[in-house]
Amino acid sequence: MHPKRVVVIGSGVSGLTVAFALLERSRHDLRPMDLKILEASNRPGGVIRSYWKDGFLFEQGPERFSSEPAAALSLCRLLGLEDDLELANSQSIGLMRDGRVFPLPDLFKQQRMPYLDLLKGCLLSISGKGRAILERWIKPCHFVNDESVDSFIRRRFGREVLERWIEPLLRIMASGSCADLSMRAILPHWLEAERRYGSVLRALKRPEIVSVGKEALVRIPIQAYRFRSGMQTLIDRLVSRLAPVPLLLQHRLMHLERRNHRSTWRLVLDNGESMEADAVCLALPAQDTAKVVKNIDPQLSKALAGIPYSSWVTVSMAIDRGKVSHPIVLKSELVLLEKKMNAIIGYSIRLQKQELSGQLAATARVFMEKTAEHFSDSRCAQLACQLLEQRLHLRESPSATSVNRLSSSIPEYRVGHLERVSTIEERLKEHPTLALTGNGFWGHGVADCIRLANRSAGNLYTSLYEKANGASTD
Ligand SMILES: Cc1cc2nc3c(=O)[nH]c(=O)nc-3n(C[C@H](O)[C@H](O)[C@H](O)COP(=O)(O)OP(=O)(O)OC[C@H]3O[C@@H](n4cnc5c(N)ncnc54)[C@H](O)[C@@H]3O)c2cc1C
Repeated sequence: MHPKRVVVIGSGVSGLTVAFALLERSRHDLRPMDLKILEASNRPGGVIRSYWKDGFLFEQGPERFSSEPAAALSLCRLLGLEDDLELANSQSIGLMRDGRVFPLPDLFKQQRMPYLDLLKGCLLSISGKGRAILERWIKPCHFVNDESVDSFIRRRFGREVLERWIEPLLRIMASGSCADLSMRAILPHWLEAERRYGSVLRALKRPEIVSVGKEALVRIPIQAYRFRSGMQTLIDRLVSRLAPVPLLLQHRLMHLERRNHRSTWRLVLDNGESMEADAVCLALPAQDTAKVVKNIDPQLSKALAGIPYSSWVTVSMAIDRGKVSHPIVLKSELVLLEKKMNAIIGYSIRLQKQELSGQLAATARVFMEKTAEHFSDSRCAQLACQLLEQRLHLRESPSATSVNRLSSSIPEYRVGHLERVSTIEERLKEHPTLALTGNGFWGHGVADCIRLANRSAGNLYTSLYEKANGASTD
């Protein structure tokens, strides 16, 4: 039997996980597979990259992953990485208004208490609280299938809950504006509570609503892990365990074609080369996938192009604890800004031990909006510094600073997202030897990407080997 030729496109965490799962499965079943990975850039990892600067660990992309779904933790165990993992300090989340930080309840917890905390605290005005309490008596709107978060929250809880809690939180957690984000994707349990029981407050603790909440595509992790030596550890270990599978860097796939009466694929690359494969897995941002499949399935391409991505500028700074004169502030926290300060929307602080001096220190990451793309690195760093000086009362400049720009890196799950994903899945039934995975569909967290990558690898493997005639009937 000829080994099946499988090509995985993209070597972010999704692509490497798909390749690893396929390799493990083919080895286990003693079915030889001719596997290759193609990557457009000059390094594997996609948005994941960790680096050391002046003795501090910086992360370009994610710095922690959630224990839910469990796929990420299981993969770390399989790769023998448990010893490098540590529980990430739980981050308190707050909103900065007029220089003061107000604690924010966890939006994604399926219980009423966080909401009551909001009513007890002083983040909302008296009239804002009164309006929020009225939610119990606001008439439900039964005929919507999906709705923007903005419209739902305004309708049920009023403007202040939207502006002082939900909007700033989702700008960072879901990287989009509430005017666009989908209730069904982000807060499905709130929508379901209204539909079934007429009020979110009355129904949030009901078990059936709690289980709908588990389907939310964006969550604040209840428990999160990080690697002592950075997220890059996961990428490096995957790459080393995949050897001798070729990982071809600086090989960008331009488009796909069908060959041999649609039974095989031809991959056309940007360097003019082409290659043939029995199966292909595209582990790319949805926008890139849309371009690649345009020739073979315009409808699929259109649905993929409808998932927009947002760009991120982050400024990472290392802070020596000795240089902070505000003793209580240096703790692990995520602070969001109610009003944008020249494109800054929030910052997070991560405590870490400085390797060289052994001192306890911290890295702060300042998140900036798309508009910051037009600022120079030094302007971004200057703005970020101003914010941290105000907040932490720094006596000296940060010990190290680094500006990272990731364009089109996080998907926005906009109104109608779930319908778009179901169109994509319908179209894929026409192409059983083509799999799509990545952060554009069922959650953008690292753990969600790993879970989906395992599922995509399983489906592709089944189409290749177990549905023996799958390719020829497609
Ligand atoms: C700033 C930031 C912070 C984040 N923080 C967290 C966090 O704390 N916790 C968490 O769980 N998640 C976090 N995330 C989300 C998470 O990191 C990503 O969703 C996830 O890593 C995406 O992995 P991926 O492999 O699907 O995509 P990517 O990492 O985007 O990889 C796609 C790869 O495909 C390659 N590629 C693209 N087009 C082509 C082509 N035509 N041919 C060949 N190769 C191509 C790209 O070069 C890239 O290497 C964060 C993301 C960002 C940007």
